[in-house]
Amino acid sequence: MPMRQAILRGPRALDLVEAPVPTPGPGEVVVRIRAALTCGTDLKTYRRGHPRLAFGPFGHEGTGEVAAVGEGVEGFPTGQPVVFVPTAGCGTCAACRRGLDNVCETQFDEIALGCYGDFLRLPARVVRRHLFPKPDGLTFVDAAFLEPLACVVRGWHRLGAPTSGVAAVVGLGPIGLLFVAEARRRGLEVIAVGRRAQGLALAAAFGARDVVSAADGDPGAALRRLTGAGADLVIECTGSAEVWRAAPSWAAPGGRVLLFGGLPGGSQPAFDATRLHYGEIDLVSAFHYRTPDVVEALSLLASGAVRPGPLVTDRRPLDGIRQVFEDLDRGAGVKFAVLPEGEA
Ligand SMILES: [Zn+2]
Ligand SMILES: [Zn+2]
Repeated sequence: MPMRQAILRGPRALDLVEAPVPTPGPGEVVVRIRAALTCGTDLKTYRRGHPRLAFGPFGHEGTGEVAAVGEGVEGFPTGQPVVFVPTAGCGTCAACRRGLDNVCETQFDEIALGCYGDFLRLPARVVRRHLFPKPDGLTFVDAAFLEPLACVVRGWHRLGAPTSGVAAVVGLGPIGLLFVAEARRRGLEVIAVGRRAQGLALAAAFGARDVVSAADGDPGAALRRLTGAGADLVIECTGSAEVWRAAPSWAAPGGRVLLFGGLPGGSQPAFDATRLHYGEIDLVSAFHYRTPDVVEALSLLASGAVRPGPLVTDRRPLDGIRQVFEDLDRGAGVKFAVLPEGEA
């Protein structure tokens, strides 16, 4: 029996095709997808490709029900609602042995891509480490925030998990907005900087003290006006080289800058050495998630400590997947939920 599968063939070439329903090999699980979410990484890949994600089956944030399990899989009966993230460390490379499975050398060799489809096969290493029963109180859509929230949790640990001060969150896509929510939950004040009215409104709804429209001129001047010396934390979520370069000048002396949004391969942003040295500004980056970040993100969702629902702009059927990305490409919407079987 065939299923529907969205395939990204190249930049802006997205098709929904018929494909055979996958069968699970040893250690693998096939999930019937109930909800998948779009994200900034998807949009970047749609527009220009991605250094870590090949073209092909598309979508990496999803939830669903166990449809079939391979030899040796235990604890996941057919029909079990599940949530997962698309990669897992190998457990044996140098990075994994140091607890840095987020930079595992081989994690992208076996990635579960294709959440925009009726069924998805999860590789054995994902089943072993990053497949979980869906918590009862969570909808399929809310549970699908596990992957982006795990990345945000990783970012917080890279910032030293602060619990006070002023954080400037720059870039109000889904990740930036999750950072706003997380900063508020942890007791920080937030100044949110973004371009689009929808992102600014959501940041205010998530508790940002001030919102700054980057469309109205230099956000640095606005940040200085609002903070005096600058923000204690600057959290960059734009993936813009211009913002990477400017971010240290937006932090107060002794402040920290998290460079979160990846730049195109080979980018070499320049930094003001005087500012970094005499201002003692820390630059940190964060990539992906470690297993403890995934576990922490799952408990934040399960307990209701993070309620990501307002980030979902609209719910769309799988048959409308091309329209979803055309909408995102022209800047409409924050995050879309794609529901293969209708309302989840
Ligand atoms: Zn994502
Ligand atoms: Zn590894």
